[in-house]
Amino acid sequence: MTSENRSRVSRRTLLGAGGVTALTAPFLGAGPAAAVETPVLATPETVPDTGMHLITLGTAAGPAIRGPRHGIASAVVVDGQHYLVDFGLGMPRQAADSGLTGNRLRQAFVTHLHSDHVSEIAAYMLYNWDTPVQGVTSKVGIVGPGRSPLPEDIHPHITPPRTGMRDLVHRLLQAYAYDINIRTTDEARTPLDELFEGVDIELPRSLHADPDRNPVPDMEPFTIYEDDLVQVQATLVPHLPVFPSFAFRFESEHGVIAFSGDTAEHQNVARLSRDADLMVHEVVNMDFYRGQDFSEEFLHHLESSHTTPEGIGRIATAAGAREVVVSHVAGVFSTEDIAGIAEHYDGPYSLAVDRQLYSV
Ligand SMILES: [Zn+2]
Repeated sequence: MTSENRSRVSRRTLLGAGGVTALTAPFLGAGPAAAVETPVLATPETVPDTGMHLITLGTAAGPAIRGPRHGIASAVVVDGQHYLVDFGLGMPRQAADSGLTGNRLRQAFVTHLHSDHVSEIAAYMLYNWDTPVQGVTSKVGIVGPGRSPLPEDIHPHITPPRTGMRDLVHRLLQAYAYDINIRTTDEARTPLDELFEGVDIELPRSLHADPDRNPVPDMEPFTIYEDDLVQVQATLVPHLPVFPSFAFRFESEHGVIAFSGDTAEHQNVARLSRDADLMVHEVVNMDFYRGQDFSEEFLHHLESSHTTPEGIGRIATAAGAREVVVSHVAGVFSTEDIAGIAEHYDGPYSLAVDRQLYSV
């Protein structure tokens, strides 16, 4: 890490939890720099009951276990209530260890239906089921992509091929019918399908978006959820051939947290992240992958559907984002691997670790 980068590393993480210090920093170097960047670990004690906060529950990209990072998942906490974004590997335990009990979950969101973003939905529902586990006791939605035709060059092997968020949650509940039926009667729990439902995001008709001819039109964000604490907006992003794939913006009276989702560099993310206090952006380090023995198809997928550090810098500057948090990392092992952000962005940025607490 250069001294220039070090000076830009955020102090927000040290301030966010009342000066609580440092608990884990597996991907950050030791020495003077670490004293400034030391992440605050989210626990029941460190997450405040007031204000707006981000917890990076899991930070790894892809359906692969290549290191200690958990799969991609995040939480937005607003005045003691919380909202979840994506359900990557290990997410139910990461949420519980952060003090995010299901009885304070307001709503959950899924950026797209790649398995590394949804694989823990069933486990989350089953392990946050009603009062015995301080779980969900009244219906919450898991809001995500609706049914879409597959792109024309994708041939289905498993049917039905058109699966949306509503279908996915419904079929997961069906798959666990035996356990759900047993416990609903034997333990007098509220039937699980009365506590969770998948909710399909409807695209504005005026967009005329479709997976083959117009997957990601330039657009303004549109509102997909609102309650007394937050408004959530979405925009389409290019993560082809996956369609639709979304980025999300959470706005509260305390500030704004934006999530890029999985995406190539795109102006829709900049529009969505306008003046965000925290912009959470995915990253791919192509230098790492080009040095490995991966197929050309896999390298092409990475390059065309993810964002380089330099790309993050350009988008953050276009957005006017106040701080960048890098999560959903592919081929990134240290802050030096994302130093390219600073070539195009003057603000603070950090490489998130699992369960890192940031405050707005
Ligand atoms: Zn993806």
